Amino acid sequence: MSAHTFFAVPEAPAYALRHVRIPACLTTPTAQALTVATTFEHGDLHDADLMIEDGCIAAILPAGTAAPASGPDLRQSMVLPGLLDCHTHLDKGHIWPRKPNPTGDGAGAAQATGEDRTARWREHDLLARMSFGLQTAYAHGVLAIRTHLDCLQPQADISFPVFQELREAWQGRIDLQASSIAPLDIFLTDEGRRLADTVARAGGQLGCVTRFRGLPNVPLQPEFDVAIRRFFELAAERGLDADLHVDETGDARVLSLAEVARIATEVGFAGRILCGHCCSLALQDEARIARTLDACARAGIDFVSLPTVNLYLQDRDPTASRTPRWRGVTLLHEMKARGLRVAIAGDNCRDPFHAYGDHDMLDTYTQAVKILHLDHPLGHWIEAATRTPADIMGLPQRGRLAPGLPADLLVLRARNYSELLARHQSDRVVLRQGRAIDTRLPDYRLLDELMT
Ligand SMILES: [Zn+2]
Repeated sequence: MSAHTFFAVPEAPAYALRHVRIPACLTTPTAQALTVATTFEHGDLHDADLMIEDGCIAAILPAGTAAPASGPDLRQSMVLPGLLDCHTHLDKGHIWPRKPNPTGDGAGAAQATGEDRTARWREHDLLARMSFGLQTAYAHGVLAIRTHLDCLQPQADISFPVFQELREAWQGRIDLQASSIAPLDIFLTDEGRRLADTVARAGGQLGCVTRFRGLPNVPLQPEFDVAIRRFFELAAERGLDADLHVDETGDARVLSLAEVARIATEVGFAGRILCGHCCSLALQDEARIARTLDACARAGIDFVSLPTVNLYLQDRDPTASRTPRWRGVTLLHEMKARGLRVAIAGDNCRDPFHAYGDHDMLDTYTQAVKILHLDHPLGHWIEAATRTPADIMGLPQRGRLAPGLPADLLVLRARNYSELLARHQSDRVVLRQGRAIDTRLPDYRLLDELMT
């Protein structure tokens, strides 16, 4: 047993993890014979023995079935599938020491990031910081990441080749996807078409912020319509999915989400649409919310909430003299109740949009439970960090526990959600293809030379 694990993972090609607990909502119907160990209030967990063979889950059996000699008795430790982070900004990550946000709000974030991007985001700098983020996420047990890449020229031509190099280098460890992000108004010019071509060549998702450079957030008619239509047209021509930053503001007058849904339906956009943030929706009146969510359902829009970043940026007084009055997050409960797909994700780490963060989706989940009240009951909310982002990212083998799937797992000391949510799971064991990986995190000192 190495110093950083709480049990010895067997070396044999076939072994059992005996007496574990797994979320019922993440298992397949073949596991239905398993008994539910805890009440719904605490999230249904099955007692099980997990049979591991040649790097995969060979079987999920009722606890006590596997022979004692076949593997360790984990005494009700929880096992989760590896988690997925479907909305991040690896290219911005870890610039905080050299470029903090002086005010902690969105305006300060955009200003500081823009200055740093122009001055410093060359290949060497991006490679080092993005690699650091990937190493951190990997050690925490993250299996797949979608990163947005700032794409105002000339940045797209620098960042996409770096992304493609990293996607290749990390193949088999982290499935890496990329979406562009740029102001919506570039789709009024030929820069929008060129960006769509760049994204298509790299096999990414076409994305943007649904507002115009340097203008207030309120959608402008008719230019807003023209730009969004052009965006969907460019994506459709190239068979690209869409991934949008929408209404990341506490200004309730901002209604881009409804417009995106309406126009996507009108143009018959056939790709997937993922909308992130959607903060202002939470501050609108109930009738408008209902109309907007109906339109989103018709358009088939998926949602991702970024709770730690919303909590950090939204409702912040740049003079630090007023206490925030709302949490900044969108309406995940209402969306899920309508059958819409909702995920949570980490977003920014140690950059002007979020001073903190560590690419740890288990931490994002535990914080989301508290910020968004994903508890009492916990129900199926663990899906928002596992099965749902896997489906949104087009990775149907991920985010669930079933025979035949890779044994890419988190084994926690925690025996239930109470223990999981109360204490940081820094002693988790991360299995990749049935083998324990090194979960030590990269040292921040590795980035020191970039921070001067
Ligand atoms: Zn974002």
